[in-house]
Amino acid sequence: MKKQTKAIHTAYRLPDAYGALSMPVYHTAAYEFKNADEMADAFCGRTDMPDYSRVTNPTVTYFENKVKELTGATNVIALSSGMAAISNTLLAVAGAGKNIVSSRHVFGNTYSLIAGTLLRFGVKPKLCDLTDIEKVESMVDENTCCIYLEIITNPQMEVADLRALSRVAKAHHIPLIADTTMIPFTEFSAKELGVDIEVVSSTKYLSGGATSIGGLVIDYGTLEGFGQRMKTEMLLNLGAYMTPHVAYMQTLGLETLNARYRLQASNALELARKLCTLPAIRRVNYVGLEDNPYHELAVSQFGKTGGAMITIDLESREACFSFINRLKLIRRATNLFDNKSLAIHPASTIFGNFTDRQRKSMDVLDTTVRLSVGLEDVDDLFEDIKNSL
Ligand code: PLP
Repeated sequence: MKKQTKAIHTAYRLPDAYGALSMPVYHTAAYEFKNADEMADAFCGRTDMPDYSRVTNPTVTYFENKVKELTGATNVIALSSGMAAISNTLLAVAGAGKNIVSSRHVFGNTYSLIAGTLLRFGVKPKLCDLTDIEKVESMVDENTCCIYLEIITNPQMEVADLRALSRVAKAHHIPLIADTTMIPFTEFSAKELGVDIEVVSSTKYLSGGATSIGGLVIDYGTLEGFGQRMKTEMLLNLGAYMTPHVAYMQTLGLETLNARYRLQASNALELARKLCTLPAIRRVNYVGLEDNPYHELAVSQFGKTGGAMITIDLESREACFSFINRLKLIRRATNLFDNKSLAIHPASTIFGNFTDRQRKSMDVLDTTVRLSVGLEDVDDLFEDIKNSL
């Protein structure tokens, strides 16, 4: 079956007692066993019958299996948010005395996790320019536990060479972990680019119109023991497994992902081209534009689509605020890849609690507005932007 067919028709592991055509939502905390032997087998992983919904649930398993079918992963684990996917993954690979080679160009909470929370537990951040492969090579040492990056950074829109980073990671026997939230995993193969573990905020494209918060860890089985540790240690001890109702909504989202994403990405490209004609905008940053410095690399890694996030730079912070305040159609909200188009000023919101110096070091500018392009008609979006400028 081709990907789109798998997204719709992946089979349930066991037939539903009533022949339900939609995967039922198993709203249960626990499961009953026929006898103590069966119970012991389930708890010790000798069978794959569910035992407790902090670790496994048939509705969530179905969602995970669909993602497994679509990516060819060895293990897929669904969690309660993108941040849960990131934190559980890093806690599984790191430990006191280890370090993480990453960048200052990452999502704000990921930055605080790596540079703050994990540091308190003795994991050192080693942050550098991940587009400079020699620099990355020089940062990795015997205590490095992984190289961590975002495939298109939010909001700087930087793209690093995944194949080159993978060569560095492989030479040092450490995993390359990539946050692939910006381009759906149905559009490209992270595995073929040498990524060992993908983390995704499924809140974004997958949830099907911002219905719910969720995250995915997609493990390609190259790091020995990782999948097992996620299931037997992280899920049990940290307790951030996805809930069945969210899995149900995100399974439906996955069925329409391709159709929604293709329209959002083509809307974003058309809008980005139109925005380049407006003199009040100093810069339009979108990897889908042919003159973007990362365009060729992005196409070679992720295919023809450039995602649905655009940033624009205006004259000043005041100009950004006044623009955002005037918008009538585009909503003032955080989040990405809702069906509705959204606008936010990252420096004063997502990065608002960082110091000016930190924001500067992260290249989060006061003059940037981030747009998430939705499923509306592009002419209406362009009119709203033009009028608000
Ligand atoms: N990764 C990226 C690239 C993001 O943009 C976000 C959220 O905006 C996250 C991770 C965190 O995801 P969540 O909000 O689902 O925890």
